[in-house]
Amino acid sequence: MAATIDYSKLRIVPDADTREWWEAARQHKYLVRRCNRCGHKWFPPNIPACSKCTSMDVGWSETAGKGVIHSYVVVVQPVVGAFVGAVPYVVALIELDDCKEEDGTVTRVAGVLTNEESEVAIGLPCTVLFEETADPKIVMPRWRISGGAEKTWTFE
Ligand SMILES: [Zn+2]
Repeated sequence: MAATIDYSKLRIVPDADTREWWEAARQHKYLVRRCNRCGHKWFPPNIPACSKCTSMDVGWSETAGKGVIHSYVVVVQPVVGAFVGAVPYVVALIELDDCKEEDGTVTRVAGVLTNEESEVAIGLPCTVLFEETADPKIVMPRWRISGGAEKTWTFE
């Protein structure tokens, strides 16, 4: 498995906006924010108002943690010490399968893949997985490619 992250070098402190999200991750559930007025969904969760209807009445929506790679980057220069042993690693922008809205809006999330760059392509399906860390309160979502696709594209 590629991209071993040293989570001991990260200091993750859930706050009022993210506490429920981290608690769900600990239970291996992947949440996105949902507007209680219009149903719009988004990520990351620390944006406190709906970008469609401006309501601040927001809640959560549990997703299946499945999506398709919309784009990706290969990180070769780690900015954070926790990732020094992980480079090169792939960060993907993932369109969640169950977060498509009637007007075409799709919720996208970023995630570090467990796959090597040579395995990654735009259009491939992927699934969330959850990695335990030394801190029992923090479980980290990662993503892995879960199948093939008829039409894919890669940066070359
Ligand atoms: Zn809304």
